[in-house]
Amino acid sequence: MKIVVLPGDGIGPETMAVAVDVLQAASRRFDLGLELQHDVAGHDSLKRHGATVTPGLLEKVRRADGLMLGPMATYDFKDESRGEINPSMFFRKHLDLHANIRPARTYPGMPARLGEFDLVVVRENTEGFYADRNVESGGSEILVTPDVAVSLRRITRACCERIARSAFELAMTRDRHVTIVHKANVLKIGDGMFIEECRRVGREFPDVVIDDVIVDAMMAHVVRAPQRFDVIVTTNMFGDILSDLTAELSGSLGLGGSLNAGVDYAMGQAAHGSAPDIAGTDTANPISQILSAAMLLNWHGRRKGLDNFLQAGAAIQDTIARTIAARECTRDVGGTLGTRAAGEAFVRRLAAG
Ligand code: NAD
Repeated sequence: MKIVVLPGDGIGPETMAVAVDVLQAASRRFDLGLELQHDVAGHDSLKRHGATVTPGLLEKVRRADGLMLGPMATYDFKDESRGEINPSMFFRKHLDLHANIRPARTYPGMPARLGEFDLVVVRENTEGFYADRNVESGGSEILVTPDVAVSLRRITRACCERIARSAFELAMTRDRHVTIVHKANVLKIGDGMFIEECRRVGREFPDVVIDDVIVDAMMAHVVRAPQRFDVIVTTNMFGDILSDLTAELSGSLGLGGSLNAGVDYAMGQAAHGSAPDIAGTDTANPISQILSAAMLLNWHGRRKGLDNFLQAGAAIQDTIARTIAARECTRDVGGTLGTRAAGEAFVRRLAAG
């Protein structure tokens, strides 16, 4: 099982180093036979290869079984003609990773400001308002005159249908409740189509309760009572914004793990960015990257029927809860440890079982 590891920018090398140790410890304990292939993307790749990502790297990733992508300084990458390509977009688009699964839950032992909750944001990943993945060639933002800009959003029935299916399938493994988050009161055609497709797919899952909430009201509802939600399905940009909020409500953005999943490929990637404000300070929470690794192992376990991968994923998730309960974690979630020490404590617990 080959997994390509790209540490990324800012805090990426610090948190990915921990995730790598965790994957190796899980591989030893559960006999996963993981082979980690290290490479670079983002600023490191721009310096070495003249581009943040390269066609050669994509081929290497395609040949492997999975990818762990670190956070990228995407705001720095403004000009594709100078090799400044958004690596997240690059892999999501070229590997067709349509579903971005972003869980958010509270943990025992950590103060839960809003009470306990456990929800998952299922975000469409390949179209929507993201100008760098909407059209075959060029971008979907147009400078009409020096003072007029137009940003286009693409919504297709096919992408609505497949993200809805991902959400309902996930809901069947959880509390069987899907909330559709949209702005169909204004984006009547695009979000109208999104709701229509979600409800049509939902009819194939009669055991799942479906409701829908307008995105602006959702900001109030999820802060007021996050325990009201189980699986939340939404379009690309709403899901990006909402999932940062739900991660922070659970205690810290540093708990925000995520999986980018397609039909044949998956990529583990923390929900947050490169956090330049804390990069190099040994304070970043590595749990987001660790949880993303566990989600990648679970995805392989489910897809290939590999029990040891499912056991490894479950053990990592259990270790997350135990390290938090024991306060063997970083300061953002109530601990006193730095990134490296939190990682070492994590690996000790995981290896001990
Ligand atoms: P950010 O997500 O990097 O940080 C937001 C806040 O959360 C900061 O205060 C940061 O210190 C904190 N934070 C983030 N991760 C943390 C962790 N693991 N532990 C503890 N605290 C953590 O957002 P930003 O600062 O606006 O963006 C920085 C760069 O990241 C930008 O270039 C942006 O475009 C990019 N970005 C990349 C991704 C991605 O690669 N998936 C996602 C979001 C933003």
